[in-house]
Amino acid sequence: MEIHFEKRRMITKFLDPALNFAENERVTEIRVDPLTKQTTRLLHFPIRWAQKTDLGEIVERSLEFGCPFCPQMIDMVTPKFPTELTSKERIQRGSAVVFPNMFPYDTYSAVAIFSGEHFKPMAEFEPQLLRDGFCASQEYLTSVQASDPGAPLYHTINWNYMPLAGGTIIHPHLQIIAGSTGTNYHRRILESSAAYAAANSSSYWADLIEEETRLGERLIGKVGKTTWLVCFAPKGIIDVMAIFEGVLTISDIKESDWMDFSRGLSAAMKLLDSRGFYSLNMAIYSGQGAEHFWTHAKLVPRALLPPMNASDINYFNTLHNEVLTIFEPEQICAEAKGFIEKA
Ligand SMILES: [Zn+2]
Repeated sequence: MEIHFEKRRMITKFLDPALNFAENERVTEIRVDPLTKQTTRLLHFPIRWAQKTDLGEIVERSLEFGCPFCPQMIDMVTPKFPTELTSKERIQRGSAVVFPNMFPYDTYSAVAIFSGEHFKPMAEFEPQLLRDGFCASQEYLTSVQASDPGAPLYHTINWNYMPLAGGTIIHPHLQIIAGSTGTNYHRRILESSAAYAAANSSSYWADLIEEETRLGERLIGKVGKTTWLVCFAPKGIIDVMAIFEGVLTISDIKESDWMDFSRGLSAAMKLLDSRGFYSLNMAIYSGQGAEHFWTHAKLVPRALLPPMNASDINYFNTLHNEVLTIFEPEQICAEAKGFIEKA
């Protein structure tokens, strides 16, 4: 067991105008991710969180542009798969449909629509709906790997929910990507996980669950064979992680596991909604079949910071590859437990 949760407390002193210029101090906490060793800064920055935004106007405007993902449009305007990839023109599962992404991010790039509704509020995603979207996405990735017998590809399923999180189309949709070049972060976690296993003769993911269970500060709970926790060194203002226990690749996830994950995800989205968030980024990172890596997901809400609606992404993220947050993961976990228990 070699998991360390390292915190560095940096103290800044200043003469505070609010205290008639008497000396005051403030703490910046720098947390080191136990796997990647990347740092995150936890700031004690008082923000009065804004009330929920009315999304009616933005949804209406998006319909004026026309939506290619609404049910009456999909057949006419979305592409079909070439026969060498799958015998199906588009992959369907319940109300979910997967088709090629005409604006690809890598050799294999697809879009999954999983709701007939153009807009779905964050707290209203039913687990069955999410499961069908993930099952259809998985079928695409499994077809991709079967059609490309070369080296294992990097597989991910991703979601930008709402424009604030980078989604250019409001209609809920996942993006599924496979290619020979993983993203910087995906490559890093695979390499770090392999290095951990070689050094410790154990799985980082099994050790992480064991250690977080022992500490009881950030482990939200379990839904079936998925374990939910709030990351010690978040990759966004809040970072909720779901680990598929013992599952090596996305293609290995069973339908019942997808249902467990979808129940947890639906509950986590209700938690974020209760905090006034209305957009998020999500990624599911697949292993490539090696025993050391367990497939897992990360969920990060996105926000505009009051009072000026400042972006939650600034030079730290763009130019320093560093994350800032004002939310203490342990406090978020305490709140999240009630939601996951009801999943
Ligand atoms: Zn639509």
